[in-house]
Amino acid sequence: MSIAHHPSAPMVAAYAAGRLDFGQHVAVATHLFSCQHCRNQVRAAEQTGGDLLSALPPAPLANDALTRIEARLAEPDKPPPPNPVATSDIPGLPSFLRSYRFDAWRPVAPSLEARAIRLPHPTPTRVFVLKARPGSRLLLHTHKGFELTCVLAGGFSHEGGHFGPGDFDIGDSAVSHEPSIDAGEDCISLVAMQGSLKLRGLLGLLVQPFVRL
Ligand SMILES: [Zn+2]
Repeated sequence: MSIAHHPSAPMVAAYAAGRLDFGQHVAVATHLFSCQHCRNQVRAAEQTGGDLLSALPPAPLANDALTRIEARLAEPDKPPPPNPVATSDIPGLPSFLRSYRFDAWRPVAPSLEARAIRLPHPTPTRVFVLKARPGSRLLLHTHKGFELTCVLAGGFSHEGGHFGPGDFDIGDSAVSHEPSIDAGEDCISLVAMQGSLKLRGLLGLLVQPFVRL
């Protein structure tokens, strides 16, 4: 897998420090699943954080700290609940996501379907899998919030380049794009989004009421 587009360095550092909200965390973790380069960045950031921690003066632990840790170690691992709707029709889905609950596919716009992912922790970021038909062209749009996209299968292009499996794309209100989907196979991506899409142009004004994202 040849990956050309990565999360920004500050985003990778925020992931390593645990500062992303859970929805953003899932999007970056999906990219890390296939990107050795960014996994190395995370490891380096964690090493730096560990060095900083070890340079701090020691602080006393609570008296019952060891007892509480032992109690948690004794808790049996709970197996993840079985997913009520199969995810075998989502190629490239990282294994850690298969234990989450997925809604069924639903149409969101012409040539587009989505499956919402119900995350185990509350987050202001919506996470879903988006499937676009091969050869389709999405409307010129921008974002009222932000959109993180990690391609799982297929690919698309916009003025920022071509995005294939593993590639990571960041959209926000400063970016307008009109992706065209590669011919030959569905483009399936994991998307983490805050805010909503804002479609541009006359056609966008006409179809905006029907886009359910
Ligand atoms: Zn990367």
